[in-house]
Amino acid sequence: MILKIPWVDRTRCTRELDCKAAKYCKKGAFKVQPESEDEPGKARDFPWVDLEQCKQCGDCEKACTERAVKMV
Ligand code: SF4
Repeated sequence: MILKIPWVDRTRCTRELDCKAAKYCKKGAFKVQPESEDEPGKARDFPWVDLEQCKQCGDCEKACTERAVKMV
């Protein structure tokens, strides 16, 4: 069986600090970058996934309100 991993679509992600995908990741694998100095409320870069911690459950994909996370 080939397991899928989360992928962040940069054309959809809005870099919210209050990232729902990160909030609902039970493993703490979905990482939000620190706040941008130029854009308050936004992360300075796109989130990333620590594949050492990720259990490939797909909760982040379901939680993202922008539909920016896909299991691929
Ligand atoms: S697939 Fe599951 S464990 Fe991996 S980043 Fe998404 S919510 Fe976290």
